[in-house]
Order: sequence, then C-alpha cells, then structure tokens
Amino acid sequence: SENNFDCKLKQAGCFGFCAEEPMVMFYQPGKPMLVYSKVEVKDVKRIIDNLHKNRLYKNKLLCRIDEWDFLTSEVVFGKGYEDIPHWDEVPFFKGQKKVVLRHAGLIDPEDIFDYIAVGGYNALAKAVMAYEPAEVVEQVMASKLRGRGGAGFPTGVKWSIMQKQDARQKYVICNADEGDPGAYMNRNEIESDPHMLLEGMLIGAYAMGASEGIAYVRAEYPLAVKRLRTAIGQAEQLGLMGENILGTGFSFKMDIVEGAGAFVCGEETALIASIEGKAGRPLPRPPYPASKGLYGKPTNINNVETWCNVPVIIEKGAGWFTAMGTEKSPGTKVFSLVGKVKNTGLVELPLGSRLEQFVFNIGEGTGTSKRVKAVQTGGPSGGCIPLEFFSTPVDYESLAGIGAIMGSGGMVVMDQDNCMVDVARYFLEFNAGESCGKCTPCREGASQALAILTRITRGQGTFADLTVLELLSGVIKDSSLCALGQTAPNPILTTLKYFRNEYEEHIREKR
Ligand code: SF4
Repeated sequence: SENNFDCKLKQAGCFGFCAEEPMVMFYQPGKPMLVYSKVEVKDVKRIIDNLHKNRLYKNKLLCRIDEWDFLTSEVVFGKGYEDIPHWDEVPFFKGQKKVVLRHAGLIDPEDIFDYIAVGGYNALAKAVMAYEPAEVVEQVMASKLRGRGGAGFPTGVKWSIMQKQDARQKYVICNADEGDPGAYMNRNEIESDPHMLLEGMLIGAYAMGASEGIAYVRAEYPLAVKRLRTAIGQAEQLGLMGENILGTGFSFKMDIVEGAGAFVCGEETALIASIEGKAGRPLPRPPYPASKGLYGKPTNINNVETWCNVPVIIEKGAGWFTAMGTEKSPGTKVFSLVGKVKNTGLVELPLGSRLEQFVFNIGEGTGTSKRVKAVQTGGPSGGCIPLEFFSTPVDYESLAGIGAIMGSGGMVVMDQDNCMVDVARYFLEFNAGESCGKCTPCREGASQALAILTRITRGQGTFADLTVLELLSGVIKDSSLCALGQTAPNPILTTLKYFRNEYEEHIREKR
C-alpha cells in the first residue's frame, strides 16, 4: 500500500452470508482474521490505514475468525479481540456446522497449494496408499452417506454395485446440473473449493475402478466451469490426476461437459444421454447406469455435494461422520436460504435440524413487520410447508412425511404477502416448461394442471377444479416416467392440503 504496509491481496470463494456481501477478510499473522461486510472500495483504504496504525476500523466489521481447525471449528486464540463477535456467534452462522463449506471463503479456489495447505489431497493419499478399493467402499458404506442431489439413496450401496461390475472401462460422473429456482449450493461448492470435488471423485474412481470422470456442469455457471478446469490442470501438473497417481498405478483423467440448462438433465439417464450428444430424455430403468451407463459402460453418478463429503469421510472416518445428523440421515447438508428472509445465504447444518432453526435462528425471520407464512423445500419438486410444521426435522423421511422433499437443498421463505396459489402456479409452470415431453402424464397432465391453476388465479376457477386438480396430480405422480413428473404435483398437493382456503378465496372472489 502507499504507506508501505506490506499487504497481499488474495481472492477467495464465498463465505456463505449472501445478505452481507461483498465480504473482505483481513488476516495478519498471529491475530484473528477480521471479516468486513458490505465493503465498498473506499472502505479498503480505511481498513488498511487503520491496521497500519495498529487501530481497528470497526465500521462494517462483522466478526472475527480466530485461528481455527477447519474441521472441528475449535478456537485457538482471540485474545484482545473479545469485543468483536466470533464468526459462530453471529446469528447467521450460529449453530452451523461447516463440513462441506469448511474452506469456502477462506482459501483461493484457483490455487491448489491453498487447498493442500488446509490438508487437501491427504484423503486421496490415504485412500490410494493405505486402503484397498473395497475398503474405501466399506468406509463410505459405514458412513451412511446419502445422495445429496435429492433422492437420498445410500452412496455406499451405489458404489458397491458399481465396484462389482466386471468391465475394463468404467466412468464416474459429477452431476452439477443444478437448476432449481433459488438453489445455488453446488455452484458455491465448486466455485469456492473445486479441488474438494476433484478429490472426492478421485477417491470414488479408485474405489469403484473407474479410469475416467466427467463433471456435467450447467453452462450458466461459467465461473464454476473455469475454476474446475483450472483445478483439473493443477491436479494434473502435480501428478494428482493422470497416469500412475502417487506412484500407485491408479490412473484417472477428467473432463468437463457443459449442460445446456435443461432441468430434466439432472436425471441420471437423461444426463448420460446429453453427454453422449443425444437429446436429454430419461430412459426407463433398469438397466441402471451402474451396469449400463455412459457409452454402455458401468457408470456412477453422484451430485456435487455427495462427492464433496467423501474426502472428509476418508480423512476423519465413518464414525466421525455418523456422529453428526440423525441415525438414518447422518452428516450435514448445505441449503440455500432465500426469499422473504432477512439473512439470505448458504447454510450448513447437521441433518435433522428443525426448519425453525433455519428460518428464525439463522435467517432471523423476514426482517420486516411481515410474518413468515411458509417455506418451500426441494425447489419445484418440493412442497410448501406452513409455519405450524416448522418444528419438523429437516431430513429425507420427515420432510417426505409432510408431503415435501429435501431435494438438493433449496429453501425459499414466503411471508404473508405471498399468495400460495400463485406460488404453486409458479413452480408448476417451471416444471411444465421443463418436461421433456416423452411421457403423456407429465407432458399433458402438467400443462392441463397449469391451465386450471391459471384459471383459478384469474378468478375464473370453480370448486370442481380443485377435485380435478387433486385427481390429476395423483395420476401425474403415479404414472410419470421420471422424478421430474413424479414430483411435479408436490407444490399443488401441499398448497391444496395446507392452504386450501386461499384456493377457495380465489374461487369465491369470482362470484
Ligand atoms: Fe420427460 Fe416428464 Fe416423462 Fe420425465 S416424467 S420422462 S420429464 S415427460
């Protein structure tokens, strides 16, 4: 700087608190890291000038981060800075358990040495040098990790099926085709810590006997694509990817395929078809990709966050992982908390945490005089959950029990001004637009349901429409080929169940 204060500028990923961006962190060796929020260019000079004079610029100072263990969040020191809240005392971060997001916002995602400095690639070394492939699968099985893309299928079971396939060529794929409105967890995971994803895929490839991997990333995420490409190049240069990795004889190469933004390509068979250059349309299963996937070869597909959990499971052990979350849903999950909520951003909590913790403790409610009315989990395939059910634990079974789904982690908060019929119509319009048109219940059913909802919102609906909507939703759910159609009616069914009076008001208004 102009006053000879030796200062190095580094980029970092996102620390997760979107409502307070842009954030700038100042680190001086031996002192806690200072986190400033909503920083403007003029603030930077003031912060540095003050630091140079050994004073603290307190304007816009959000919190401090003591020197900490990224995995245990143990505070090492903070002496002299006690009057500044530690990061986990700020309501937005309080109670969060950063596992997948442990490096996000703290390391340079374009520098492999930053990742290595925080223990990155240790788990890969441990897996390929200390474990047989079957032992790695056993660890993942013992962790009870479930797919974070939405379905919640046990990852270890999926890996074990793939591992047993007798084939010379196998593939692993990362599904980064995140397309739900309001969801951006995977985007941040790649943009902030791309090597964590690569390390997870490398370990998975070793365990399942795959020699090639593909990251299928939506083209609307250019920064994620760029950083992932950079990360692959750096890993290759250091011999962590390519031939004979770490001298073990294990070889693995990776490529990126950019998806063109079709929501249905998040479905495994549609995703494979898209990579092969065909139209992205789902196929009936079986055969499952584990036996006949990409180019007819055994293929394992996991979502970004699922892969990102793998290195820490191998490093810390399955027991460490199962100590978090619930018996059936261990570990943490990253959610994007958006909508009518004061503190928007990415939230990582142990599975089984209650909805009220997300919306009221971390989100601090609407931040206005308006009252929270509902939350939509699982994006367009999920359900609208009313306030009375906010004590529900957020895990796969509990959310399904009230007609919603966890999905990949979108959480949209609605307040008293939101019309729930409009909300249902919005999500159904999205699903109807994204239907690939292959099967009749989804193609025709969704567009007919949309026409009825449109009539109702325009004050032209009848009470008979509500009965038809329920029947039609049941048919779409039961007879569609893939999850897009099977879950498309969820927003209708949950709003009809919990907010029927709003439908009836629309109908009565007409009279
Ligand atoms: Fe396509 Fe919908 Fe059928 Fe899925 S359910 S295959 S998206 S038409």
